[in-house]
Amino acid sequence: MTARILRNVALTALIAVTAFTAAGLFYGDPRFVGLFEFRNSTVPNGQAADQQPGTAAETVGSDAPPPGLEEQDSPLGTADEPPVPSDSFKFLAMNDDGTPVGYSPCRPLHYVVNAGLAPAGSENLVEEAVGTIARATGIRFINDGPSTEAPSEDRDPYQPETYGERWAPLLISWTTPEVSPKLKGQVIGTGGSTHYSFDGGPKTFVTGSLDLDAPQIAGELERPEGSAYATAVILHELSHVMGLEHVDDPLQLMYPEIGTPDGLAAGDLNGLYQLGRAACRKDL
Ligand SMILES: [Zn+2]
Repeated sequence: MTARILRNVALTALIAVTAFTAAGLFYGDPRFVGLFEFRNSTVPNGQAADQQPGTAAETVGSDAPPPGLEEQDSPLGTADEPPVPSDSFKFLAMNDDGTPVGYSPCRPLHYVVNAGLAPAGSENLVEEAVGTIARATGIRFINDGPSTEAPSEDRDPYQPETYGERWAPLLISWTTPEVSPKLKGQVIGTGGSTHYSFDGGPKTFVTGSLDLDAPQIAGELERPEGSAYATAVILHELSHVMGLEHVDDPLQLMYPEIGTPDGLAAGDLNGLYQLGRAACRKDL
């Protein structure tokens, strides 16, 4: 892509909400929703977009992969219908037409795991949580295996030298507050995604990251029902990654405090279901 990318658009929607429960667990998130605007690039119908010489756009054509990689004509998977209707959900970002910003369901969402600090007993937790989100959204996830990429607050969404000419995969990191300062104090996890758009058009997430406080979760895993709490943390953060915001309803997993860790509730499931119906994007 011979894209010029306007990078001077401020990061938005950093809402750090932390709270604690009887179990002493805090969520600290959503971590970020980055916004990047393509300018002077190819628009969805293949015509050249308006040229805007003299804007603040910088030419960084190598900062975006070729568009439409692995993108199919229709969604790859089918989400499970939410068993109970509920409108107790909220989206992190919206398009002008009122649709929520999500990932394209017409391509797989690749992820890698930096598991160097993963605590004992956590081996299957991430994969199981990803499977739960896949069923709730219909998004097809592909585990690209382990990664040594360190978590970063300004992670580059395109890293061809590391991951090839595609959007960087979702990075799930077992990390520490020293490496990921947003985990300082009693925050146990953060998560978020980066969305792109063309000239103010509809936005779509292209990659994200999820940081898990390994020492704190290791402590939880030593407690009775610890794995249920750890799973709740991972599901909550993955739901931010997919595009869900916090809600005020304490029955939902997207409530900012961890209550009884029963997993995704009706509002969470309805929100994730809608996110799984985001637009396909051959142009991104
Ligand atoms: Zn949260």
